Amino acid sequence: MQTKSFPNLNPIRRIYIDPAVEHMPQTLEILQNFDDVPQKVCPTDQVFEIINQSSDPIQTGKEVLLLTANKGRFIRGCPGTRHYECCRYVILHVGTYCPMDCAYCILQTFFHPPVLQYFVNHEDMLAELDHFLETTSQRRIGTGEYTDSLIWSHWTTLVANLVQRFGRQSQVALELKTKTNLVKNLENLAHNRKTILAWSLNTESVIRENEVGTASLKERLDAALSCQQWGYPLAFHFDPIIIADGIEDEYLAVIRELFDRIDPDNIVWISLGSLRCMPPLKAIIHRRFPQSRIMYGEFISGLDNKLRYFKPLRINIYRQIISGIRKMAPQVPLYFCMESGDVWEQTMGFRPDAKGGLANLLDGSAIKQCNLNSS
Ligand code: SF4
Repeated sequence: MQTKSFPNLNPIRRIYIDPAVEHMPQTLEILQNFDDVPQKVCPTDQVFEIINQSSDPIQTGKEVLLLTANKGRFIRGCPGTRHYECCRYVILHVGTYCPMDCAYCILQTFFHPPVLQYFVNHEDMLAELDHFLETTSQRRIGTGEYTDSLIWSHWTTLVANLVQRFGRQSQVALELKTKTNLVKNLENLAHNRKTILAWSLNTESVIRENEVGTASLKERLDAALSCQQWGYPLAFHFDPIIIADGIEDEYLAVIRELFDRIDPDNIVWISLGSLRCMPPLKAIIHRRFPQSRIMYGEFISGLDNKLRYFKPLRINIYRQIISGIRKMAPQVPLYFCMESGDVWEQTMGFRPDAKGGLANLLDGSAIKQCNLNSS
């Protein structure tokens, strides 16, 4: 187990323990990392009230860790949207929120209140997962939609256990998405190439201004290289792409750095997505991240009511990034997260429907790279 200190992360200042999980093994495991942090046994609804009444719930929720049970389903479909091409991702819901602090993070407004929660009822989770793996026709699942996948590998054996569980089957690939470099505990696991390690990538200037407490670009690529050397398949997400004067060259530099280190043949997919957010997030970004310039662009309201860059601007930057990637990795599978068929057509030259749909394209790549059963 790594030590609990991770430079730059918001420090955990208080731990709340739901009385129902006080004596569970996973509670005791994670608490070993925090014996110098004040702890209180407290019902979940009271914790939510404490956070809601604090002067800055978004910040407070990052400094508090709530250990509780997931009383709903652990496995659920990604919310997606019917207005844009959706990849039909499946989420393994292991916890919520994040001690890192990205200006554009939708989790700031997604949960009420936003609070760092770790679900400790792993027996329930593993039973649901076993059933899913035996019965599903899905090929992709991930833990990184409502939290960062690897922060939990820093404090618990959850991630190592999941990697090994997926390594014992050949139906579904597990994707772990992160902005950390917390990969040390992934070495020497029997992953059997069924776990994809995925990093969000951005330019150094976007990371510096907007991704507080995350690993630098170099640290992320170093971690990816280690995982490649340990035999894991990799993925990368250019998301959110920011549009600003001269930033195209910065993205091309990131692409060069990526392929200087990483073998394109070991990449399962690269996604692209430009900045988009629900309107209330704009005021939060201005208040919490005064140094950030990401909301100064030219935005319109999309079909899903999210603010997005004006379509011709999106198409322009996508074309440049796609061309940069294609020069270095002509075969690597590329896709858009939440874009229209029209944008696909004008940048990639086809609509996903023409190739059986986006989910089908990604499934095919997971089957190939992760050696999944083909039927
Ligand atoms: S790393 Fe991801 S989950 Fe964490 S604050 Fe940033 S965007 Fe949100």
